[in-house]
Amino acid sequence: MNLKEELKTILKGEVEDAEEVLQTYSRDASLFELKPRAVVFPKDAEDVKALVRFVKEHKEENLSLTCRSGGSDMTGGPLTQSIAVDMQRHFNSILEFGEKTVRVQPGVWYRDFEKETVKRNLLLTCYHASKDLCTLVCMLANYAG
Ligand SMILES: Cc1cc2nc3c(=O)[nH]c(=O)nc-3n(C[C@H](O)[C@H](O)[C@H](O)COP(=O)(O)OP(=O)(O)OC[C@H]3O[C@@H](n4cnc5c(N)ncnc54)[C@H](O)[C@@H]3O)c2cc1C
Repeated sequence: MNLKEELKTILKGEVEDAEEVLQTYSRDASLFELKPRAVVFPKDAEDVKALVRFVKEHKEENLSLTCRSGGSDMTGGPLTQSIAVDMQRHFNSILEFGEKTVRVQPGVWYRDFEKETVKRNLLLTCYHASKDLCTLVCMLANYAG
């Protein structure tokens, strides 16, 4: 199976398998190294659904999906030998602020989010030492902070 070509037929977002891209995505901030077969950049929720369907329909290929955002994890969490799903490139909007609530897409950088909350005299105080390198969803995914 030519994974890149097959993925391109089901996604609106980009698909990469160039060696330099795979190398970049084979590391996070840990000591581990795992090279993905392909890196995808879903454009929207429909692309994410299409990926899940694709993996389900190609069980014989033993594929999996591993999300990645800032890549600053220190445990190898975003590394994979299958499909790396970059959730930062296209999922990076702050959608709406309420009085003390905010709705965001998963790939919003904490540093961008903080600029907006500070303007409103608010601070999400569970930020951590890598707050300039990481995204909001991963602070949740990793129980970081
Ligand atoms: C210098 C430095 C200091 C650090 N300091 C701290 C600290 O003080 N406290 C702390 O807790 N951590 C710290 N970390 C670790 C790391 O920065 C945090 O865990 C951070 O939250 C990871 O965010 P990220 O966007 O880089 O995530 P990534 O590394 O891209 O991913 C982290 C995890 O989230 C998953 N993930 C990614 N996107 C999604 C998605 N859309 N949906 C579901 N899961 C997803 C990944 O599969 C992976 O398991 C530090 C790291 C560095 C390099």
